[in-house]
Amino acid sequence: MELTFDDLWVRSLPGEQQVRPGSRQVHGMCYSRVVPTPVPQPRMLAWSKEAAELLDWQEWPEMAEVLGGNRLLPGMKPYAACYGGHQFGHWAGQLGDGRALTLGEVVNGRGQRWEVQLKGAGPTPYSRRADGRAVLRSSVREFLCSEAIFHLGIPTTRALALVGTGEGVMRDMFYDGRPADEPGAVVTRLAPTFVRFGSFEIFASRGEVEVLRQLTEFVMEHHYPECKGDIYAFYDEVCQRTARLMADWMRVGFVHGVMNTDNLSILGWTIDYGPYGWLDPYQRDFTPNTTDRNLRYCYVQQPRIGQWNLARLAEALLPLVKDEKPMEASLDAYLRTFEQSCRENMWAKLGLPVSSDPLLGDLLALLDEVEIDMTIFFRNLARVRELPGEGLPAPLLRAYYAEPQGEPLEKMRLWLLRYLGQERDLERMNRVNPSLIPRNYLVQEVIQRAEKGDDGAVQEMLEQLRHPYRERGDEDPLFQRRPEWARSAPGCSALSCSS
Ligand code: AMP
Ligand code: MG
Repeated sequence: MELTFDDLWVRSLPGEQQVRPGSRQVHGMCYSRVVPTPVPQPRMLAWSKEAAELLDWQEWPEMAEVLGGNRLLPGMKPYAACYGGHQFGHWAGQLGDGRALTLGEVVNGRGQRWEVQLKGAGPTPYSRRADGRAVLRSSVREFLCSEAIFHLGIPTTRALALVGTGEGVMRDMFYDGRPADEPGAVVTRLAPTFVRFGSFEIFASRGEVEVLRQLTEFVMEHHYPECKGDIYAFYDEVCQRTARLMADWMRVGFVHGVMNTDNLSILGWTIDYGPYGWLDPYQRDFTPNTTDRNLRYCYVQQPRIGQWNLARLAEALLPLVKDEKPMEASLDAYLRTFEQSCRENMWAKLGLPVSSDPLLGDLLALLDEVEIDMTIFFRNLARVRELPGEGLPAPLLRAYYAEPQGEPLEKMRLWLLRYLGQERDLERMNRVNPSLIPRNYLVQEVIQRAEKGDDGAVQEMLEQLRHPYRERGDEDPLFQRRPEWARSAPGCSALSCSS
């Protein structure tokens, strides 16, 4: 099979050309050439055929060798990118691809360019503390969630393959000083570019204005051609896309978990799946990330943090523009677009046209009051036609984590009375209210099977996640509330960044 790789990034931008081991600060460069570190026993564990179609690829026998990092194909010029970022609100300096490296770019038959990146393929100059490896558990999480988010209809980097390495990786999963050997894996990710907000910030922070200009022009030329080199138009479009992305996340109850500026894609796509989570019970201040003690990145904060991060991006671009006013206007427009998109999404979940009726706000307040499963509630709302004489309709009762009683029950009955009087677009509801999201506990069960050697577990789950809006019956094991055991089980509720 003929696979052709291109190296547009490497030949267009300044980079360290000599492969050199050791972590270091890299100045004035967009990347460093690297080589993947081979693994003992690469084994293909899962494969996304939709992602492969983006490359016009099919699975072939030696694929695991290449995507495990043991063999380079003609035209590949692997590199790790340099970037910085604000982490939890503070400038963190140089970060960079420390456990990821790009093999090269593929241009498909439709002329689209896709960067092919390995995550977990060994150290690079940007590796911090750890070894550039990734454990199976975090790799399964990234693989499944990337593809799930895509099938939910939300912009995201993609996952092509999950390769087991046959090698143990030492990790301190709970940061409690008891590291353990865990199975390792490599995920192959795809995106037109993996450039982040932090890719611009690093050069601005160091006063490397010429490199900043080169990077900005490169990104505008190849990823924002419609902006015709106008930085204001480019920035405005990034703001608009990010606003719509936040509205999409809110619709499905996705919590990214680490919205640092190095984890926001310049494309306005979801990127870097670490300690992400999903709302099981609807809870505005939910965060899956145990290190986020101040709830900076909790569900309801995400749109505000998106704007904060965009402000950091504007500051990084300032050395290239004369006037900051247009960027301030774009930041204001961000909020308006988010609010409008979010309203459209949430009213669509109710099957109703956008309106200023307090119906929506009232429901969200009710959902937050007692534990009600967001996914089951909204999905089953379309199945409810009338209010029974007492209690709640059975499909909605299924969303409650505890039998509703007293005031919350009465308030929900009154709400339903108002709501069910309206003409609803039921088909539209079923297109925006998923019946399946990769809940943490579901993914955790897959991880445990995979860790025990069940090589089909991840692929099996992917097959299900390809159909998030499919009708699922009450008995479907994937359409259930989070079970009680998963409330506080490791990997199901609390996650750390330990990779
Ligand atoms: P992340 O938590 O993925 O956003 O990563 C933050 C920074 O730490 C990035 O520069 C990563 O490349 C680096 N990093 C994360 N995990 C590892 C690892 N296993 N080995 C080396 N560097 C890492
Ligand atoms: Mg990251």
